[in-house]
Amino acid sequence: MSLLMIPGPIEVSPAVIEAGSGKPPGHLAADFIEAFGHSLEQMRVIWKASADSQPFLVAGSGTLAMEIAATNVVDPGEPVVVVQTGWFSDRMAEMARRRGARVTVVESPAGETPSLDDIAAAMTKTRAKVLFATHVDTSTGVRCDAAAYAALATEHGALSVFDGVCATAAERFDMESWGADIYLTGSQKAIGLPAGLALLVASPRALAKRSRLAVAPPMTMDFESWLPIMKSYEARGKGYFATPATSLVKALPVAFGELLSEDGIDGCFARHQRGADAFRAAWSAMGLSLVASRPELAANTLSAVRYPEGVGPSLVGRIAERGVVVAGGLHPDIKTEYFRVGHMGDVLRRPDALETTVRAIADALTAEGHATDADAAWKAFCDVFER
Ligand SMILES: *Cc1c(COP(=O)(O)O)cnc(C)c1O
Repeated sequence: MSLLMIPGPIEVSPAVIEAGSGKPPGHLAADFIEAFGHSLEQMRVIWKASADSQPFLVAGSGTLAMEIAATNVVDPGEPVVVVQTGWFSDRMAEMARRRGARVTVVESPAGETPSLDDIAAAMTKTRAKVLFATHVDTSTGVRCDAAAYAALATEHGALSVFDGVCATAAERFDMESWGADIYLTGSQKAIGLPAGLALLVASPRALAKRSRLAVAPPMTMDFESWLPIMKSYEARGKGYFATPATSLVKALPVAFGELLSEDGIDGCFARHQRGADAFRAAWSAMGLSLVASRPELAANTLSAVRYPEGVGPSLVGRIAERGVVVAGGLHPDIKTEYFRVGHMGDVLRRPDALETTVRAIADALTAEGHATDADAAWKAFCDVFER
């Protein structure tokens, strides 16, 4: 079996696979209700969200979570700002457009983020009601300054929504103290489950905005369809609006337990930081550079790495021949110039998997004509990882 080192879906731990397999529970079974209720409580811990915030756990993709966010806090005709840091921000902008919002996109070249001044100017000029941003854009490996954006939105009397699909649980995010209004993800990224769950937490301000909307969201995406169900499960009662992904929900407390097992969620952020720093040391040893234009923009969940001189997209296949699946480029402007390696979740506890990855990439580079010392790359990795 090859090693899945793409920025989601990720390698799933044996304990999570075990918990999600077997006879699927009914959605009203006592142990299922407990798993659902406990997971909602744990989401507030992982999101660092306030006691009065509302977690939602719905069957679906990360993209569904994005659309739930886009339809519950915007009325048709309202001005919104989307901070563009890559491919997934464009998707968010299109969703807001389809909701009928008047969308202003604050652009930046691949590998960068727009300046705070540019974002502030767009907020002021358009009187935007919502600021949308991608916490980590998976197409560029760029992490935005979510704390600053949330503060900026609050200053402008606007809500802030963050797509955390390639960040949540791995990149520092402090929903309550930053004053963010929606933070969303999908289960197959840093959460460490198979794909199939959309997870998001909404602030009281976001819920209040939904209740003031003139035009209700589509029924399956409406906060108000799901609110009684979430409240009931959290009170360890029954609920039904549409059948949840029961096997996945059953495994969720196990995945959350793994995330929180070393010094809680802060320990999980630190583990991802250390893993990413180690990969960055390995890239340097291989003579490679990142798409992120400055070190502080480089995400801890994945590396978007530029091909060296003379090497191109065929490298991805060469790496796969060595048992490791990495991803090609995604950002349309630079698609053929880089590849992407995910480093989230369970693999950070599997030194053998990390070594296989570093050596497969080094050897593949050599095979493609960029002579690379795999021992030196692995040593550079370990010097940081074991520090
Ligand atoms: C993966 C990803 C998505 C899409 O998630 P799906 O589960 O594939 O729908 C959205 N945003 C970001 C930042 C992602 O990394």
